[in-house]
Amino acid sequence: MATVAEIFKTMEYGPAPESDKEALGWLGKHERVFGHFIDGAWTDPGRTFDVINPSTSKTIARVTDGTKADVDAAVSAARRALPAWKGLTPHARARHLYALARAVQKHSRLLAVLESMDNGKSIRETRDIDIPLVARHFYHHAGWAQLLGSEFEGYEAIGVVGQIIPWNFPLLMLAWKIAPALAAGNTVVLKPAEFTPLTALAFAEIADAAGIPAGVVNIVTGHGETGAAIVEHPDVDKIAFTGSTEVGKIIRRSTAGSGKKLSLELGGKSPFIVYDDADLDSVVEGVVDAIWFNQGQVCCAGSRLLVQEGVADRLLAKLRARMEKLRLGSPLDKAVDMGAIVAPVQLERIRTLVQQGVDEGATMWQPSWACPTDGYFYPPTLFTGVQPSSTIAQVEIFGPVLVSMTFRTPDESVALANNTPYGLAASVWTESINLALDIAPKIKAGVVWVNSTNLFDAAAGFGGYRESGFGREGGREGMWEYVKRQVSGPRSQVSGKTPPSPQRPETRDLRPLSSDEMPELDRTPKLFIGGKQARPDQGYTRRIYSPSGEMVGEVPEGNRKDIRNAVEAAHAAKGWGRSTGHNRGQILYYIAENLAARGAEFAARIDAMTACGKRRAKQEVEASISRLFTYAAWADKYDGAVHSVPIRGVSIAMNEPIGVMALVCDDAFPILGLVSLIGPAMATGNTTIVVPSHSYPLAATDFYSVLETSDVPDGVVNIVTGDKDALAKVLAEHDDVEAIWYFGEREGVKQVELASASNMKRTWATWHERDWLDRAMGEGRDFLRAATQVKNVWVPYGE
Ligand code: NDP
Repeated sequence: MATVAEIFKTMEYGPAPESDKEALGWLGKHERVFGHFIDGAWTDPGRTFDVINPSTSKTIARVTDGTKADVDAAVSAARRALPAWKGLTPHARARHLYALARAVQKHSRLLAVLESMDNGKSIRETRDIDIPLVARHFYHHAGWAQLLGSEFEGYEAIGVVGQIIPWNFPLLMLAWKIAPALAAGNTVVLKPAEFTPLTALAFAEIADAAGIPAGVVNIVTGHGETGAAIVEHPDVDKIAFTGSTEVGKIIRRSTAGSGKKLSLELGGKSPFIVYDDADLDSVVEGVVDAIWFNQGQVCCAGSRLLVQEGVADRLLAKLRARMEKLRLGSPLDKAVDMGAIVAPVQLERIRTLVQQGVDEGATMWQPSWACPTDGYFYPPTLFTGVQPSSTIAQVEIFGPVLVSMTFRTPDESVALANNTPYGLAASVWTESINLALDIAPKIKAGVVWVNSTNLFDAAAGFGGYRESGFGREGGREGMWEYVKRQVSGPRSQVSGKTPPSPQRPETRDLRPLSSDEMPELDRTPKLFIGGKQARPDQGYTRRIYSPSGEMVGEVPEGNRKDIRNAVEAAHAAKGWGRSTGHNRGQILYYIAENLAARGAEFAARIDAMTACGKRRAKQEVEASISRLFTYAAWADKYDGAVHSVPIRGVSIAMNEPIGVMALVCDDAFPILGLVSLIGPAMATGNTTIVVPSHSYPLAATDFYSVLETSDVPDGVVNIVTGDKDALAKVLAEHDDVEAIWYFGEREGVKQVELASASNMKRTWATWHERDWLDRAMGEGRDFLRAATQVKNVWVPYGE
């Protein structure tokens, strides 16, 4: 008789196939050919393209390549459906979202199988991860729909939302987009990826049957051009996109100046950091989930393994042993770990990048077993001996390829982790909670998982820093992407009207002084850089006139070099972000105090420049002092949150400063406009480069000495005067500026948004008139939110 040990040695996995009968039945019902789903009905199929099962390379259906006319029809349907949908009570919309959650659960197996056939991912994942998370998203957002009136008071739906999603988590990405959009009262036009359109179409049918009104959810299939038609459609109010950074940049540029709200969830090259006290067996399972989950086709895949030198050999040996045991094969086999790559083009991309890694001198290792040859399979792959600057360490491979590097100290691990233009996610593995929570804030990423990886939940926001995009999906933070402030009456943003430019005098020559006046003592402001009044790079000066044509002063004409110096100074001052909220508040109070002490002088200056009248000038100074108080108050109160995620542990949502922010002021209120921007930026820990009011910059130059006497650390506020739009362009193009706010004219907005695509900096650019005296418009959470980004740190606990 065989011993148990012998049985274990010879035990093979038997086949455990999931039936595809139901899914084939659903495809058959549609004769395997689909039109779009618009206005609650199927359109007739147009020009179609094939949908391939990547694990068999067989065609399973044909879908329609959406044209501009199809997108037009979908957008019109969404527009028509908007008033009624938006007009429902929150409770009524909550019922609809609840019905969607239930419907997804009722059809969960059909959706799981269809997803697996369409994408090539294993049924284990679609059944246990994708589809349950889809249902969870609709449940969670049924809750936000219910609470909309109280929790988002004063906000309303944005309108018609265009949503474009990738192929790696087709139905989950749909849920991440559609659930918050509908909860907030928007209607949508969604384009699934060309490789994976089927579950979106099935969802449309399920949603229709669940009673979602016609036109609220419209699905248009197609290629990139169809996506572009949605992006460029003039009647779309917001674009939400998930996909490559390359296409994200195209979308940023093509929506520049359009007034469309934008959220982008882009690529990543996320670090998976292992310190020498980590539990290495858990780490191995973590790596499996980080990079071999979904064949590594995950935007937040832990694709860079960074290991502390002392444990590297031991970990890599364990990892190779584990890779040898991974099972790759038919995705519908329930005992398979890895399925197929989505399409030949993606397989080819992976092969090319792996070859490049080998050519660049890294060592490649793959398990000894062979991949199936029918479909598009690629084995789990490990690279060692990788240079941090090499292609495979920098480029998103989007396949099951792990590159490993070593480090010696925690500081070095942070430097390596941040050595990427991306900033989507990170995993930190250590048994020391002190170390984990010290490292988490230092990593530039929207999500940090402690001793865990690839955890997602509808209650916790997900999204990137830097070139991984902006905006969050999930949680309260994700809901903000789908609402806008309610406004009453016509807004210039809507009509495209720009605020009137201040009157410029015809003649620009110096007026003679009246004979009974002493010549004034010359006051020649400089720039304010690194805490010092700095001479401008070039010797040009801009004269400042009052509306009646009197010269009231001169300011330096800042240029590219001055901006460069200011950015450098702002970076050097980044310690500000680590100071306590209390400390930042104290300094803001102190600025207010010093401004108050010179209030009369500032009011006189404002009146001289703008001829607004003494009363109004005084009012502006008073409002500026109050505004500084507001942000001094907020500095220790703009808290994050602890999200209730369904794990034993917590997800801590921390509001982090964005970093170095450019603040470009409008003309309307020379000093109030300025403090309204530096207040929230400083309160939340950012350092700033300010371009003050173009026409009335002298209040800003007077402000230098207020800053100097208020203990503001050098470089936290830098002020460069000059041609507003020329300076804004330089700032928007600058790769070391991480966010730009621009208040001005429509052309300027467009220019800033276009140029910002270079490093995907966060922008808040608007041309609508803003009454800075109005507290509802001029201060508060909108500003604080725009000055921060949310990092979710997942901390599981328990022995
Ligand atoms: P894309 O960014 O090209 O595609 C994402 C979605 O955008 C798809 O629906 C696509 O349509 C659509 N699209 C493409 N071009 C445009 C455009 N100009 N305007 C509007 N929409 C457009 O990613 P790919 O699918 O081509 O994958 C390429 C690479 O991107 C991958 O190898 C991977 O590195 C990365 N990627 C990253 C993802 C992430 O989540 N971070 C997800 C997917 C890919 P269509 O499907 O027809 O191309």
